[in-house]
Amino acid sequence: MSKKTLITGFPRIGENRELKRAVESYWNGKSTIGELEDKAGELREKHWLEQKKRGIGFISINDFSLYDNMLDTVVMLNAVPKRFIPIRNVTERYFAMARGVKEAAAMEMTKWFNTNYHYIVPELENDMEFHLNPEKILKEYHHAKSLGIHPKINIIGPITFTALSKMSERSDTFSFFNRIFEVYKSLVNVLSELDEEIYLQIEEPIFVKDPCRKYLDLLNPVYNGLSSLSTKIKIIVTTYFENSCEAVEELAGTGIWGVGLDFINGRDNLSVLDWLADKHLVAGVVDGRNIWRNDLQKTKALLCEIAEKIDREKIIVSTSCSLLHIPYTVKNEPENDMNRWFSFAIEKIEEVVLVDKLFRDEPFSSEEEKGVVENMMSHEERKKSELITCPYVTERVRAEGNGSRKETAADRFDVQKKLLDLPSIPTTTIGSFPQTPEIRRARRDYKMGRISCDEYEEEMRKYIDECIHIQEVVGLDVLVHGEPERNDMVEYFGEQLKGFHFTSNGWVQSYGSRCVKPPIIYGDISRKEPMTINWIGYAQSRTKKIMKGMLTGPVTIINWSFVRDDLSRSEISKQIALALADEIDDLQNRAIKIIQVDEAAFKEGYPLRMKNIPEYEEWAVNSFKLTVSKARKETQIHTHMCYSEFNDIIETIELMDADVITIETARSGNRLLNIFKEVGYSKGIGPGVYDIHSPRIPSIEEYKGQIEQRLEVIDSSLFWVNPDCGLKTRRWEEVKPALENMVKAVREIREIREIREDGYESPRE
Ligand code: GLN
Ligand code: ZN
Repeated sequence: MSKKTLITGFPRIGENRELKRAVESYWNGKSTIGELEDKAGELREKHWLEQKKRGIGFISINDFSLYDNMLDTVVMLNAVPKRFIPIRNVTERYFAMARGVKEAAAMEMTKWFNTNYHYIVPELENDMEFHLNPEKILKEYHHAKSLGIHPKINIIGPITFTALSKMSERSDTFSFFNRIFEVYKSLVNVLSELDEEIYLQIEEPIFVKDPCRKYLDLLNPVYNGLSSLSTKIKIIVTTYFENSCEAVEELAGTGIWGVGLDFINGRDNLSVLDWLADKHLVAGVVDGRNIWRNDLQKTKALLCEIAEKIDREKIIVSTSCSLLHIPYTVKNEPENDMNRWFSFAIEKIEEVVLVDKLFRDEPFSSEEEKGVVENMMSHEERKKSELITCPYVTERVRAEGNGSRKETAADRFDVQKKLLDLPSIPTTTIGSFPQTPEIRRARRDYKMGRISCDEYEEEMRKYIDECIHIQEVVGLDVLVHGEPERNDMVEYFGEQLKGFHFTSNGWVQSYGSRCVKPPIIYGDISRKEPMTINWIGYAQSRTKKIMKGMLTGPVTIINWSFVRDDLSRSEISKQIALALADEIDDLQNRAIKIIQVDEAAFKEGYPLRMKNIPEYEEWAVNSFKLTVSKARKETQIHTHMCYSEFNDIIETIELMDADVITIETARSGNRLLNIFKEVGYSKGIGPGVYDIHSPRIPSIEEYKGQIEQRLEVIDSSLFWVNPDCGLKTRRWEEVKPALENMVKAVREIREIREIREDGYESPRE
């Protein structure tokens, strides 16, 4: 096989999300495990052949998964948590770990580094009996061989696996590590029987996050240990999403065959190439995280720079990371002038091959020649395109791009308190109410043109009326309209803003069988017309209570989109912020007194390396401040974030200067809340008391316990009571009683407290 090109990993969900359908059909009992396996095999084969036919040298196996690679590694190591052992059928057990069953709760899921992909978090238990289950790998290996492919085997490295695992506080990470490492050794022994040359891509992305010395010290013994087991095994240690300079230094002295590095999001990797003179270098130069067409000439220059340090013959041209994070192919998109600017997984493969030839001055076929010329032209054309630039937007960012609110938070506090006249410990919700089949259908029908605009709006208004009625009966203080018109908190705004493109088939796996279709920000952003006024204004007209306006903030919009690569994030975020600022102004002019700007993805957007944090925080905070800059002192600004871990970012949160923040704490209680007390946080806080991820309905007593506990940490004058997050994934049967109990609990607590404040003994004490 030609050892010049490599794909780190390929999307597995399928060109038309075939894997999603196959897996879900198995879950629903509509197909057998045999049928699911057949479909999986078919997809793997197709994906391998797409790479082979385009001339890729190193084609991965074991990048495929029925649910998640981390979960596959759990199975490979036999690291099955005790509660799943009674499930004897291996497939049922696999999906039970991922999704939970009645007898055993699902394993936790969390984001894979700074991507939007979620992996299953391994749980390590002291009495686990680790041993090797190599069946999946062997099966894929033989299958690929039968197609004339000499595969590269992908696995998650032992250090990353252990570092990302959960274990009880008393456990010793390193004793787990040693036991796990033994299994990796067995794996290498088994694989070395397979062929004369075995290529093993061991992924150790943990080293891109400012690595600790303890893990770095493992690299040498681990990788010398593994590579010395057999001369047939050629190990490539791969990292992605950032530089891994410290790890490279350690790996240089080991017997591994090669190192895979990301030169798109980890350009500092260029500075450690001297160390790698005797290794093969898998050079990640084609961006696996974004969807823009590669600039072949620029990439050639980058490779030439690398070749000053590394022998050309030892350079393997590659993607910067797995292509899991981008859609399948541009070819399935409907005609659009912008399509030729985009490159999805299939197109990235073609780029890797072209770039490789260009770099090595190899002759092109006439087809390839055309490809190179077309590539150059598309870049020229994109640069000049009128679709991208809007002078008005640039000018406005220059003139107004640094705004923030004028009054201090303390001044605003008093004005708002008087004006809003809310009871002590006000109650509210985070925005969305259950998305019923009826409203989903109405949205779909409207999109497909099956119902008229009037019919659609009628349907939505009916639902808003219902939401208001329920909230009034329940007795909440600050109401929401329920967000029935939104299918996604970013898409809803993106569709109404200039500068956003929505693909038809650009699906990316988010977790398991779930996919998302991130918008593409391609040009200057501005608001065409008001985006939420009709709905929120209507909702306010139907109630005497305060109706909270609801917007998605600039940081979240950026973090959940594919972002243009010809303008800095800081500029893009200002453009979005100004569009949202106009929306806030319109809302307050329509008598909306409270406006929430959701920043659900604020924290997950944090850079992997500490040194890049100040820059991120600066644009993230400034764009939030700019978004709310037009809010008058009377307008109360809320923000919402979907987590509770604020220890390291509390100062940044303060700088955002929101009047109230609602966060997720139903599961973590006070443990993570203390930081607000420690820093003397003086603005409103609504720590979630209702876990919206669970169908359980908390009792009044339970709520009271939760609230009293929070009041030990948070001053009652700053305290709000609300659920953890939006309620759109729950059912009304759960939401109604859960909110009823929440409000009743608050009322009882108010009573007790008022009596206390009046100096009377509380009857309950
Ligand atoms: N307002 C949004 C909702 O309630 C917030 C969602 C989120 O934080 N993820 O659905
Ligand atoms: Zn949330």
